[in-house]
Amino acid sequence: MSTLPDINTHFAEWYQEIIVKTGIIDSSPTRGCFVIRPYGYAMWELIQRHVDDKIKVLGVENAYFPLLIPKSFLSKEEKHIEGFSPELAVVTHGGGKELEEPLVVRPTSETIIYYMFSRWITSYRDLPLKINQWANVVRWEMRTRPFVRSLEFLWQEGHTAHRTHEEAVEMALAALEMYRSTYEDFLAVPVVTGMKTDSERFAGADRTYTVEGLMHDGKGLQMCTSHVLAHSFPASFDVQYQDADGARKVPYCTSWGFTTRSVGAIIMTHGDQQGLIIPPKVAPIQVIMIPIYKTDEERVLVMDRIKQIYSTLNGAGVRAKIDDREGMTPGAKYFEWEEKGVPVRLELGPKDLQNNSVVLANRVEQEKTKKKSFVAVDQVVEQVQNLLQIIHATLYDRAKARMQAQWHQADKIADFGPIMDAKHGWYQTGWCGAAECEAVVKQYKGTIRCLLEEKKHNSCFACDADSKVDVLVAKAY
Ligand SMILES: [Zn+2]
Repeated sequence: MSTLPDINTHFAEWYQEIIVKTGIIDSSPTRGCFVIRPYGYAMWELIQRHVDDKIKVLGVENAYFPLLIPKSFLSKEEKHIEGFSPELAVVTHGGGKELEEPLVVRPTSETIIYYMFSRWITSYRDLPLKINQWANVVRWEMRTRPFVRSLEFLWQEGHTAHRTHEEAVEMALAALEMYRSTYEDFLAVPVVTGMKTDSERFAGADRTYTVEGLMHDGKGLQMCTSHVLAHSFPASFDVQYQDADGARKVPYCTSWGFTTRSVGAIIMTHGDQQGLIIPPKVAPIQVIMIPIYKTDEERVLVMDRIKQIYSTLNGAGVRAKIDDREGMTPGAKYFEWEEKGVPVRLELGPKDLQNNSVVLANRVEQEKTKKKSFVAVDQVVEQVQNLLQIIHATLYDRAKARMQAQWHQADKIADFGPIMDAKHGWYQTGWCGAAECEAVVKQYKGTIRCLLEEKKHNSCFACDADSKVDVLVAKAY
């Protein structure tokens, strides 16, 4: 039986306990910072590899910029400094002396990258310029939560410059689509994409697109964003080029980021009362192999066979691991790996040797009759690959069904606000577009997560005016 806090009634406690217990993360002596342990970092590496490949398909090249940025750079764009000021970590001393100009630890790198763009872009022939950086950033958060919000986090930040506004919008949307597909097709996390309201936009952006997900407890999570920057932003760094007609022009820029928050999203979407469930494509261990034996003679035979099967799986690109720890019952091993969320368990004992078969167990399935299947040894690779695909699809469908069940159509905030505050969930409603009406959502601890393309509601959730657009309202992390 699981000793974890109840996932339905004590989700926050469940999350805190499972990520530490399974070796994903540990607290650190630095306030608000966390240590990502190998089991968690391996997931980030797989995500990174996937996203990096997709970024390159978009014609974007990787580069690296300094961690420390002159403080004056951030002040060049009024909205940007206004938005980031409270979150900045500032270095005032170096080499034992007070610095003439303080340096900030990057909260994001637009400023230093635009400074460099002003040196690299002179002609229309230099455009588009598409750069990505894999890096860490620091934002001085007061309330932290592992992966979701921390002082330091890891991410990629894409920065591009284009001749036309249209091309920049296209780029921001291509990044958004890459993120959507990463969440849905790679991490089995269903999402909604849309535009942010003016008040929820990135500091210095004209448009912010967002990818939003619904976690196990019905709260929303902003999973990543993509921006078309205000035209004044590159202008304030003198990013200019000579166009074909000889005129000096300012390019249109985008930025977009995908962070370690994705690891938290996986855990908060797929976990169950038994523990984590890691979607197969991002699972550091896809198949955990458990040898079962009583005598030394059996041990030799079972280990010999299991190593052969391991080699075959490994050769086929399946991430497998043999748990050959001694002095531990198979049952105790099953329990531990179920809790760590490994999608498939392979069991092999003396009886299986005789039958020339193995047992495959599916982590997602709890019903006893469906959980296990017997598979012939020469079918193992095919059956494992098949099972991994089924598990991905099951996880996606299950999360999608939960999202749909918690996606409510709602009219007036006075009615649905208290329900949202108490029970969470997503509320699709109409909005007149006024900031005063948007502010009313805060009374119920919610926010407008994004604008929707679908229009079902005719009047604003807060006033009597006509609705201009449907919005998704929710409490969020
Ligand atoms: Zn209104």
